[in-house]
Amino acid sequence: MSRVTKVGLDFDGVVAYNPFRVIRAPITGFKRKILKKRGLKFFIPHNRWQQFLWRVLHESSIVPAPGLQLLREMVKERKIEAHLVTARFNFLNQNLERWLGKFRVRDLFTTVSVNNKNQQPHLFKQEIIKKYKFDYYIEDNLDVVEYLEKNNRVKICWIYNLVDKFLYRNRAGFGYLKKALQWIQDQEK
Ligand SMILES: [Mg+2]
Repeated sequence: MSRVTKVGLDFDGVVAYNPFRVIRAPITGFKRKILKKRGLKFFIPHNRWQQFLWRVLHESSIVPAPGLQLLREMVKERKIEAHLVTARFNFLNQNLERWLGKFRVRDLFTTVSVNNKNQQPHLFKQEIIKKYKFDYYIEDNLDVVEYLEKNNRVKICWIYNLVDKFLYRNRAGFGYLKKALQWIQDQEK
């Protein structure tokens, strides 16, 4: 029997989508392209106010990304095994569980890995990819994508936003989850 294809999925920006992120995108794009700043040191909110603001920014309006239906089908037909990975910081976990319950997606995932020790996101994700031996990993943060590509054999699918797509025209990526899943489906035929 052939081994089931394991797909790891990032939560924010891949499984869930926050329309307000579009506002942040040009700033990140500017920093990266013009100032040549790489964002591999992530800000960790420590005090109550920072955590409050962070929570409002993250939780305000996150909705399921287009492609969740296809994910459901692929899992049901046993084409893939889905694993959720989130580097969200500790204090956001409760919201994550609530969200997964609300949209009835918790049971889609064989495992849910949460960044309980508040590690840097790219390091945490690398650890989980290795732990479960994913065949594919879907991620929206380009800095994380580049880091993981360098350090793993896993195929990384990048979900871009419009600004990133404009700045990095030659880089292969997907507009949203459904496109990435369709591509994985084609690879596995
Ligand atoms: Mg993300």
